[in-house]
Amino acid sequence: MAEALETPVSRRLASVKNIIIVISGKGGVGKSSSSVQLALALLNQAPGTRVGLLDLDLTGPSLPRMVGLDVPGATVHQSSAGWVPVYVDRSRRLGVMSIGFLLKDRGDSVVWRGPKKDGMIRQFLSEVRWGDLDYLVVDTPPGTSDEHISLLTHLHPMFTPTTERPTVPSAVVVTTPQKTALNDTLKSISFTRKLALPVLGLVENMAGYVCPCCNEVSDLFGSGGGERLAEEQGIGFLGRVPIDTQLVKLLDAVSKGEIPGADTDEGKETASEENKD
Ligand code: ADP
Repeated sequence: MAEALETPVSRRLASVKNIIIVISGKGGVGKSSSSVQLALALLNQAPGTRVGLLDLDLTGPSLPRMVGLDVPGATVHQSSAGWVPVYVDRSRRLGVMSIGFLLKDRGDSVVWRGPKKDGMIRQFLSEVRWGDLDYLVVDTPPGTSDEHISLLTHLHPMFTPTTERPTVPSAVVVTTPQKTALNDTLKSISFTRKLALPVLGLVENMAGYVCPCCNEVSDLFGSGGGERLAEEQGIGFLGRVPIDTQLVKLLDAVSKGEIPGADTDEGKETASEENKD
């Protein structure tokens, strides 16, 4: 296999087996909740699996809230070997890094031009001490923005498979079935082609509605559009997730620290302690 170019990013991420970048054409389609669900599903895939969640939505970070870490004690600790992510569970199997942890006030907004965002993304990729990870799930902002270009530029040396790292970064595309979302999703797919980013597949979220009384699924906004788009574009279809009030309850439970499959007994009070070297 070809020799890959070594950079601070590729050196830091050498201990990460798989990088999955979650993208969507539009905001509000469920990209961040899909990133969290994907991370939890991977975490529960096999005992001992370790997963990182990296929030690159610099202007609208939502992962800390979604994983129950939007609490005062959950802060990033700087060690000599780099930033220590905030862990959701005591066994340190699910770590999260987000600009949300670095803001003084969680209500603060980030108004940065491209170069400053690029610097932050480079730091997130090269300075977070994830340790050995089976998967790093990267949640990105909606659309195709400066953040995506920075991310893929910094990851580019890792696009060449090596014996040590046979898998290359790849994307999961999230869409809803509506036509407007599908048009934007097509742009995201075209973006992945231009940047030679392999697509693992497409998720059609909010496809149909699960009635909380009878569990029957009705086609509120239609469904199947994502699957058709995947077929037309020659990418895999990963599945359909209906609008489900249970999912909202699950995400609420997660945001209170009840992570299915992870040992969270001691809760987040210990998160900042755990993160100290
Ligand atoms: P995005 O990251 O694309 O902006 P989010 O993941 O933040 O979207 O989701 C937007 C809102 O929709 C959140 O409140 C989330 O809980 C909710 N949501 C996402 N997917 C579903 C679903 N399948 N059923 C019900 N609610 C959902």
